[in-house]
Amino acid sequence: MVKIKINGNEYQADPSKTIIEAARENGISIPHFCWHPRLSVSGNCRMCLVEVEKSPKLVIACATKVADGMVINTKNERVEKAQNAVMEFILINHPLDCPICDEAGECKLQDYSYKYDKGVSRFEEEKVRKPKRVELGPNVMLDVERCIMCSRCVRFCDEIAGKPQLVFSNRGDHVELTTAPGEKLDTPYSMNVIELCPVGALTSRDFRFKARVWEMSSTESICRGCARGCNMNIWVRNNEILRLTPRLNPEVNDYWMCDNGRLNTFKYVNSDQRIKSPMITKDGEMVETSWEEGIAYLVHKIQNFKKNEIAGIGSPFATNEDNYVFAKFMKQIIGTPHVDFSRHIVEGEEDNLLIRNDKTPNTLGAFEAGVYPSEKGYNFQQILKAIESKELKCIYVLCDDIAVAPEVRDALSKVDFLIVHSPIKNTLTAIADIVFPTATYAEKNGTFTNFQGRVQRIRPAIATAEMDRSSDGMSLSRWDKFGAQNDKWTKGNKLDVRPTWRILSSIANTINPKFRYNSAEEIFNELSSTIDSFKGLSYLKIGSKGAFLNKKTINEKKSIKVS
Ligand code: SF4
Ligand code: SF4
Repeated sequence: MVKIKINGNEYQADPSKTIIEAARENGISIPHFCWHPRLSVSGNCRMCLVEVEKSPKLVIACATKVADGMVINTKNERVEKAQNAVMEFILINHPLDCPICDEAGECKLQDYSYKYDKGVSRFEEEKVRKPKRVELGPNVMLDVERCIMCSRCVRFCDEIAGKPQLVFSNRGDHVELTTAPGEKLDTPYSMNVIELCPVGALTSRDFRFKARVWEMSSTESICRGCARGCNMNIWVRNNEILRLTPRLNPEVNDYWMCDNGRLNTFKYVNSDQRIKSPMITKDGEMVETSWEEGIAYLVHKIQNFKKNEIAGIGSPFATNEDNYVFAKFMKQIIGTPHVDFSRHIVEGEEDNLLIRNDKTPNTLGAFEAGVYPSEKGYNFQQILKAIESKELKCIYVLCDDIAVAPEVRDALSKVDFLIVHSPIKNTLTAIADIVFPTATYAEKNGTFTNFQGRVQRIRPAIATAEMDRSSDGMSLSRWDKFGAQNDKWTKGNKLDVRPTWRILSSIANTINPKFRYNSAEEIFNELSSTIDSFKGLSYLKIGSKGAFLNKKTINEKKSIKVS
């Protein structure tokens, strides 16, 4: 370590670090456009100029290593003058179209204009005009005029995504970002350039012009697209999810998300295919019913079966809490040993960055929470066989459209009574005898356990009617300014859907009054006090970055994990 001084204060610094890194580690922010902690240094924007004593000229903090005794000033008059000059230079050809720019409100250039610009320009000539709407690839749009040539997007494609798809063409003030010859921006990670871009040059073709950033709330959550469990924020307006963006977690997803996770894991929440109330089959047709009648109907019907004729299929899409309550309900209240869930592994669809071949968020968690057969119980494949042989007659399936597989649909079509939890209409609900509409991952509290064994929190980002009646969710989430907190916008918009654990708690409670839970956190506390691998964990400990299961216990159990 070496001793350095920044703005008059002494700090210890690692000599392998640059000034910008050493300053950042000590809570001192130096303005920058082109520098990014995960990209190589390009040193082209000059925004991070600082004064180093005994150096005749200002130096760029992103490319200058600290040295013992170095005295650095990031704030004095000379530095400010340089920052003003850089801002004036960058803004010469910038179109200043903030009122119609998607980036407005979260734009580095806009923020720095307030902080480091003098607010006037001496440039009186015509700005250089460039294309405003260039489709770089399926998911990203480029406004060339807004680009400040920082090269972050170019370096991301080369260094992180491993696909050099973006380049600069031309020179001087005619330089333009473009795709490399014969290429388009179509890496599975292409949309990360949108957040990397410090201005509004790169925008999402999906989200473009849908909302201003200040109109939305953002809620910390976890992507449900695969077992990585990327940390992300859910952005909501009018109780509708409009976009997902990555949230920094160096141990899980760093600064990134894949495009599939961003685009294809939330639209079902907004879908008009959502189920709005419990449904039962009457005279061959599915009809809506109330929650009370639906639960009474299920309890009445299920009593017609012997416990060994019933099986439960949990879900790797459901939370640890939902799966825990399900396993307990099936094994203790119903008394069946036949409990398992279906795996969703797609071989060959994994890479070295983030994407996992397990396309669910909670395979490990479902298992660890207890969704596996008891002694002499059947696993998933054996359950299907036992349906064919008429040994099993009543099947309870949680939130997983397993009937998309034709052989599973054929088997489940033969059961006498099929109970399904699902947020949307699908192949499975089409053959069910009773369907309970469930809250999605964006409408409830809970946890997922990713492939590393890291338990991570999800939180309600959009409001349901059920939340008006209970305290769970409201106390633990940051609420949507226009949505959940403002009835004027959401009155007709809140679905009467419930988390799986609450539905199961209501059903079980009519059979055994002691089986009752009031919140996801209460379930998690029970889970962590009864299951070894969750021991010591709490919502507080998990926080916003997650906490590990007891790994030793996971490994010990692996032998019984195969189904
Ligand atoms: S498009 Fe954005 S990230 Fe790419 S070079 Fe231009 S300003 Fe930088
Ligand atoms: S890698 Fe997996 S968890 Fe991450 S964003 Fe993509 S689908 Fe979601």
